[in-house]
Order: sequence, then C-alpha cells, then structure tokens
Amino acid sequence: MAVSESDNNIDVTAFRKKILKWYDKHRRTMPWRALKAQTPTPYHVWLSEIMLQQTTVVTVGPYFQKFITKWPTIHDLASADKEEVMHEWAGLGYYARARNLHKCAQIVAWELDGVFPQEQEALKKLPGIGDYSSASIRAIAFNKPANVVDGNIERIMARLFNIHEPMPDSKKHLKTLAGSLADNHTDKPGDYAQALMDLGATICTPKSPKCLLCPVIDCCQARAKGCEAELPKKKPKKAKPQKMGQVYWITNENNEVLFLRRDENEMLGGMLGLPTSEWKEGKHITMPKLSVKHSFTHFDLVLQIKPQTQAQHEKGIILPENDPIWVSHSKIRELGLPTLFAKVVKLMK
Ligand code: SF4
Repeated sequence: MAVSESDNNIDVTAFRKKILKWYDKHRRTMPWRALKAQTPTPYHVWLSEIMLQQTTVVTVGPYFQKFITKWPTIHDLASADKEEVMHEWAGLGYYARARNLHKCAQIVAWELDGVFPQEQEALKKLPGIGDYSSASIRAIAFNKPANVVDGNIERIMARLFNIHEPMPDSKKHLKTLAGSLADNHTDKPGDYAQALMDLGATICTPKSPKCLLCPVIDCCQARAKGCEAELPKKKPKKAKPQKMGQVYWITNENNEVLFLRRDENEMLGGMLGLPTSEWKEGKHITMPKLSVKHSFTHFDLVLQIKPQTQAQHEKGIILPENDPIWVSHSKIRELGLPTLFAKVVKLMK
C-alpha cells in the first residue's frame, strides 16, 4: 500500500525537524551509541543490534561491555573460540543469535576485510541480520536512509496516523506509513531512527503516553481524537502451547554433576546443559513437586527434576549421547548456563 507524502496528512519535513531537534536535546546515552558529533562504530552498532533483538536495553548493557572489552574488534570476535562466545552469551537467551553472531563476525572479518556492507540487501545476506537489523545498521552505523520499524515505532505510527486495525494484521500498513516519513530522507537518517526509538521508549510509551512532553503532539491524529492510549489495538493472544519433560541431575561418586553440550539443532543448541528427556506437548495441570518452569517465545516448559546417581544412569535410565562433562559444585557457576538450567542448579543447590 503506497502512501505518498500528501495523503499521510503529515508535513514530513516539519515532523522530522521537530523530532530531530528534540533528539538533539534528549537523546539517551547508551554504551553502543556514538556521542553527538562522533562517528558511529559499525562493529558496535551491529553487536548491539543483534543483542537487542528480543532483549531489553537494561539487560544488554553489561553484555555489550563484556563483549567489546574481551573482543575489541570484529577480527578479535571472529578469531574467538565459538564455545567461549556461547559461554559469554549465556543468560541473554535466543542462543541462535550467538552462533550467527560468531559466523557473521568471521564472514565480515575474513571475507569482507572487516568492513560491513552498507546496503540492506547485502547486510541481510549475513547470518543473523534480518529486515529490521539491516535497516537499523544502515541508518545508525552509516547514516543512510532506511525504514527502521520495531515495536516502539509501530506504536508511534499507529498513534500518529490513528490506525485502529489491530496488530499484527496492521504491521505492513504501519511499516508503509513509517516509510513515508523515512524513505529517501537524507537529513540525519541515523539520528531520526534513534529519535523514534527514544520517543517510543520514553514518551510515547505503551501505557499512559506523556503527550504533553511530545515534540510531535501537533502531528498526532490519535491524540487529536483522544484515543492514543487505546492504540495500537491488538488481537487477543492465543495461549502458548505447553511442553513437559524431565531434566536429570546425575551425580558421580566425587559428587560432580553431569553436563552435556546440546546439539546445534535443538533448543539452546550449542550451550552447556543438564541432560533432559524429549520435551513433549502436554498440559501443566499441576507442577510436579521438584520441577522448574521456563517460558520460551513459542511455548512454556515444565521440567521435572530427576536426581540420579551415576550408577543408576549407567543402568540405562538415561543415556546421553554427547560427551559427558563432570563438573564439581563449586565450578558450576563458571559454566555460563542458559537460564533454564541455571534455575535447576539453583533448586538443587
Ligand atoms: S502525542 Fe502522544 S500518542 Fe502522539 S506520538 Fe506523541 S506521545 Fe505518542
């Protein structure tokens, strides 16, 4: 659905001027963001964009610092041991991101002479970079026009243009509207993208937007109608499927605990974890006594903890196929476990 500047009812030049002026004064300081008048570092922008996928700014902060301290350049990250990268990523979730991050670093460092491409299509060919990240990297790292649309920006567009069609059906329309304000506009595209992100995070918030502080209040059609807090509308969410299984706490005669590196193609692939049974769909009517619950994006999981001795384990109660790694209690904390298994450890200790 094409939207021209004339039928989006917003004076685009005035809108951009206002939001850019506001950003100059109110921009948030973030560890990965270049300061005013500094040139951004594409490596930092890319790293933060991958970490920020599905994860909050507050959570990402310390991980970003840790990564750039340990691996100050993309060449350092490319040469790092994959298992070490997975270890440092532990706790951030969505572990496929870490595997792709490492692969992407190797391609950029070794095949592209350490230089990220600036075009979205070329960026999207790199592992872990999709539609959103490619737009964001192009705008922020290279100050090139790109239509950067995340959840915050969808919300701002729904309100600015008073769109009542519910999410997610309205996504395409909101992206087109956002494009009518962003595409081909060369006045500070990087600042513009970050200005919208900051507006969404601090002023045009999901609940109780602070419209009286908003630099673009006079462009906002929902505000004019008094319905801004109802937007964006959302379709009722379907209940998440539930899965169940067992997790084994196997100890040997030295009181060490058995861990395994998980297969690349399963959930939490490439990470260290405790052995588990298959996770099967089922209803959690009651939580088993000794168990942990964890929410993934697409399902909720309950694992019942089964303590076993090595002798029981060797009798065939469970036969993990991967190389066993026996770890003493005092060293478990150094493993960098995904949250699911860290919850089991916490309970068992
Ligand atoms: S006026 Fe209010 S609803 Fe409209 S963009 Fe600004 S903060 Fe959001």
